[in-house]
Amino acid sequence: MECLFCKIVNKEEPATLVYEDERFVVFKDIHPKAPFHVLIVPRKHIASVAELGEQDKELIAEMIFVAKHIAEEQKFPGYKLQFNVGRQGGQIVDHLHLHLLGYPL
Ligand code: 5GP
Ligand code: ZN
Repeated sequence: MECLFCKIVNKEEPATLVYEDERFVVFKDIHPKAPFHVLIVPRKHIASVAELGEQDKELIAEMIFVAKHIAEEQKFPGYKLQFNVGRQGGQIVDHLHLHLLGYPL
């Protein structure tokens, strides 16, 4: 399998996991751009937001709820959620992921 995030999801590559359930794995970004930086990654391989289909509506909504749950657990007063889409949009890993950047007080 070629995809880095599929390998992390399948535990073939190491990562610091902070949450997982039947649909998502959340792990620390290797090059954090905030005091707390994790990636919410669906187990299902979808290349990017640009590749989402109608059938993925529930998945994408759940992704945001997973992010909200983690941010609440960490008690962040504020945080950022970001999708990078395509090379021009700063995407380097072609497996859908939502960045959660947390800023503690
Ligand atoms: P993108 O730019 O595609 O939206 O974000 C990909 C993110 O994955 C980057 O912030 C990058 O630091 C992170 N990343 C790249 N390779 C690895 C890795 O092997 N392990 C982890 N944990 N994060 C990675
Ligand atoms: Zn993948």
